[in-house]
Amino acid sequence: MRAADLIRAKRDGRTLAAEDIRALVDGYVDGEVADYQMAAFCMAVFFRGMEPAETAALAEAMLRSGDVLDLSDLPGVKVDKHSTGGVGDKVSLALAPIAAACGVVVPMISGRGLGHTGGTLDKLEAIPGFQVRLPVERFREILARHGACLVGQTDRLAPADRKLYALRDVTATVESIPLIASSIMSKKLAEGIDALVLDVKVGKGAFMKRREDAEALARTLAGIGRSFGKRVTAFLGAMDEPLGRTVGNALEVKETLDLLRGGGPPDLVACTEELTAEMVLLAGLAADRDAALARVRGAVASGRALEKLLAICAAQGGDPRVLEDPSRLPTAPSRLEVRAPRGGFVQAIDAQEIGLAAMSLGAGRARVDDRIDPAVGIVLERKVGDAVAAGEPLAVLHHGYSGPGGEAPDRVAERVLRAYTLGEERRAPGPVVLGRVE
Ligand code: URA
Repeated sequence: MRAADLIRAKRDGRTLAAEDIRALVDGYVDGEVADYQMAAFCMAVFFRGMEPAETAALAEAMLRSGDVLDLSDLPGVKVDKHSTGGVGDKVSLALAPIAAACGVVVPMISGRGLGHTGGTLDKLEAIPGFQVRLPVERFREILARHGACLVGQTDRLAPADRKLYALRDVTATVESIPLIASSIMSKKLAEGIDALVLDVKVGKGAFMKRREDAEALARTLAGIGRSFGKRVTAFLGAMDEPLGRTVGNALEVKETLDLLRGGGPPDLVACTEELTAEMVLLAGLAADRDAALARVRGAVASGRALEKLLAICAAQGGDPRVLEDPSRLPTAPSRLEVRAPRGGFVQAIDAQEIGLAAMSLGAGRARVDDRIDPAVGIVLERKVGDAVAAGEPLAVLHHGYSGPGGEAPDRVAERVLRAYTLGEERRAPGPVVLGRVE
């Protein structure tokens, strides 16, 4: 069938055959299908949606456009975790070594931050020397030896997705559940995993602001994974306020180290434990959730998870002394406190606003090719539920501003202040894992 016929069929709400979807994607990668045709197709999908079988076929076509890792010769069950992204979400940094210390094999291919959301690769690169671009053979060696390896996407991994995503970005067709889900899963399925834990974030700082959209995305992602014979658990994760107390790359690495030393803020600990325990369960290494949680906590309490991170870091070229002594992490030269104008309780912190404020300090990028500063960011001294007296700090900006150029820290401080809602009554923080989507 010609591309125009497929666009018309989708425009009119018809269901496409898997072979037609494959032909369209292959044609797009080969240059036979033009950008304008693919853009029209994406817009038709945006309005008409896709049946589960079509979405799976689209994911498969993008997956097959590149290399698919075969890790079947490595012993152990391979399980990854994917979060749809948020603010202060440093869970992967702790989860990968904890899961590996529990015996799970974790082939983790992560992304970079964009806009108000952070990315695991940027956080890892805050560790001096840490290499996120490794040849596939080295990735396999590290996985075999240490049980986890955290890298970035190579050019050979789902190239159709990269081309299509860039097109969607400029044609207002990103926000379509079948397109998002097939895009994410094409990359995850290329990792050679047996099972996957999904953390679909919902709330002010998430991609999905409404719970019903997040649930639909979670179901679609899980459905694609299962149609490929993978074991998949999908959680909904709260992203109204930032996760943990830090936003900014080196600051988040430091908070991860606190967690691996048995500390860390309760919301970050709860989220990390729940997702890692699920990986342990999916890998068949515990009989039930309680046993899996006990295993996860044991890996942290014994120090084995921290040792794992040190070993993985050294294997990937990072300086493990930095992890033993976090004062060696990149540190911003200046601090600016954001003080409460009046006393009360923190009732809400708008994660998106905090993410954008951190970005304007240089912790994130507005455009894909922006450079970031690993040292800068925001420490939230008060979280939802905390009391504060007038003049006490709500947050501290870690900045490197020497003006002019860039956003002046007092402007950023105003933005951070606006992100906080203070009230007379104490509002208890809500759960960080909102539940599973079946
Ligand atoms: N992340 C992806 O990888 N793809 C999308 O389409 C959206 C978010």
